[in-house]
Amino acid sequence: MKERVLVTGGAGFLGSHLCDRLLQEGFAVLAMDNLLTGTTDNLAHLLGNRDFEFAFHDVTNYIYVEGPLFAVLHFASPASPRDYAELPIQTLKVGSLGTHKALGLAKAKGARFLLASTSEVYGDPLLHPQPESYWGNVNPVGPRGVYDEAKRFAEALTMAYHRYHGVDTKIARIFNTFGPRMRLEDGRAIPNFILQALRGEPITVYGDGTQTRSFCFVSDLVEGIYRLLRSDLHEPVNVGNPEEWTVLRMAETVRDLTGASAPIVHEPLPVDDPRVRQPNIALARERLGWRPVVDIREGIRKTIEDFRRRVPAQ
Ligand code: UDP
Repeated sequence: MKERVLVTGGAGFLGSHLCDRLLQEGFAVLAMDNLLTGTTDNLAHLLGNRDFEFAFHDVTNYIYVEGPLFAVLHFASPASPRDYAELPIQTLKVGSLGTHKALGLAKAKGARFLLASTSEVYGDPLLHPQPESYWGNVNPVGPRGVYDEAKRFAEALTMAYHRYHGVDTKIARIFNTFGPRMRLEDGRAIPNFILQALRGEPITVYGDGTQTRSFCFVSDLVEGIYRLLRSDLHEPVNVGNPEEWTVLRMAETVRDLTGASAPIVHEPLPVDDPRVRQPNIALARERLGWRPVVDIREGIRKTIEDFRRRVPAQ
């Protein structure tokens, strides 16, 4: 009998790539999703697979799963600033109530638990790059606070289940990740830039574009998550690519790689938009033997190919 794992948010961008990887590793996979921001399109290629099941469920409600589980990977959450604005209460609920339900299930099943946390726990960081020991600079009542505080609460709850109940928990602090299957209307920088370039629309850079992010290709991220799942670490671990880019450079690169001639236009910087972001990945390097290997431009090319297949011809 194959060991079985539950991926909440399994129909999402990261969740669906994780399902693929876990199936490849020989697990039976149960993907759970309420399809609020996920889509079964991301799982269509798995629906005939005997080791794969999909359950339509909102994990802020009690989660019932029959039979044993080896691990619960909690990846359900809106994950884009546009979504936090449109779904603020769902974002808070899935990070708090959803994490509680997923942890309760892991405890009942004696399963490992892996939380998809975020670089957003560092907020607009005053320390750069960010090591795991940094406590962050978060505005609890700003527009991004619904995500940041939900994930901070999720980390606290995860550590409490580890310390008090002895659940074998892991926390991945995921930095900006991109790749095939991101929603066209996701609203984050890379999907926006690609969609705009392919449609020949102006590419919208918020602010002057000197703010930075460190973008990780999805296959690297999934490798880091899988290694963390198999590790004996319980403290939070940064998983991201330390190569730091300005947003303007990313916009120009996407434009070049799509061959578009659209202009770059500047729009107002969103409230509380972090100025800089770069993971210190010393812990992941030392304890997981992990580092990103995919060249960013190569990753962008792959993402553009995927978008080309999905964007209706203009
Ligand atoms: N951004 C941009 N144009 C867009 C979307 C985003 O310039 O069309 C900027 C945004 O202001 C931020 C950066 O790109 O500085 C990354 O934003 P994203 O929404 O991808 O994720 P974040 O890291 O802010 O959560």
